[in-house]
Amino acid sequence: RAKENGRGRAIEYDPELDRERQRVAELETLLKNAIGNGAIEAVFQPLVSATTGVVTGLEALARWRTATGNISPEIFIPLAERCGLIDALGGHMLKTSIEHAKNWPGLALSVNVSPVQLCNPEFAAEVISLLQELDFDPRRLTLEITEGVLMTNPDQARRSIDHLKQVGIKFALDDFGCGYASIGALRQFGFDRMKIDRSLVSALDQASNGADVLKATISLATALQIPVTAEGIENIRQAAVLREAGCDQLQGYLIGKPMSALDITSLLHEQAA
Ligand code: C2E
Ligand code: MG
Ligand code: MG
Ligand code: MG
Repeated sequence: RAKENGRGRAIEYDPELDRERQRVAELETLLKNAIGNGAIEAVFQPLVSATTGVVTGLEALARWRTATGNISPEIFIPLAERCGLIDALGGHMLKTSIEHAKNWPGLALSVNVSPVQLCNPEFAAEVISLLQELDFDPRRLTLEITEGVLMTNPDQARRSIDHLKQVGIKFALDDFGCGYASIGALRQFGFDRMKIDRSLVSALDQASNGADVLKATISLATALQIPVTAEGIENIRQAAVLREAGCDQLQGYLIGKPMSALDITSLLHEQAA
């Protein structure tokens, strides 16, 4: 069956495209159910002090385990954004990760927030009432956002960020160095922290000027008095370079992989002992 497009030319029926659309529709339904029945879980990755190695915070990361295997957040987060499920998914992640973090007093909690959520005018008020409901200190919460939103809807992003900063919530600019995030954005939106993307960290082992690029990026943040976290640290050499360059917080497989809330609790007990 051939359809006509606006210009009157026939478009060939493509069975493969049809199957692809059906797969996406099925995945959407599965995702909707997964959010509803708690099949989306939070795991936590340690954030440690670069100087002492002590765990000072945890980043919550979403996991979707299905009967046929795990689906990566790189797949289901964009899917949720496209099909209108990101507010529900994001709300669920925020709620469950805060409930877990209440068992880890004194530690900071970082939660990733989609640009789509931040552009929702209700978002800030919803987060604030959730914190009240769960009796969680807003000063312990950092929201990690990528720079996309700052370009597409700067006015709404600004309003949400300002509102949330007023109650003491902090903001980290995630994945710095892999997109278009600028010095301007760091300043104008009042970010409390910069997270250097893991591609810049892994460049240390590949490009001869990798260390120079990293050092320049960190000095930039330092000049703006913004502390820096380096993500994706996989070996001791990378950790040493970053510490030397002035990063105050490290994160990566070398230090700790994302793990269940239960494993975090044992890790914290070991650290205390
Ligand atoms: P992100 O926020 O930049 O999180 C860091 C990602 O790097 C995580 O991947 C983490 O597992 C991975 N990682 C950490 N250390 C290392 C390392 O040493 N080596 C390597 N190779 N990888 C490392 P993950 O969990 O697959 O998440 C991917 C992205 O999906 C996240 O990037 C974030 O943008 C998004 N995401 C995850 N959970 C959520 C969520 O609850 N909400 C939203 N909006 N986005 C989320
Ligand atoms: Mg993040
Ligand atoms: Mg990141
Ligand atoms: Mg990343």
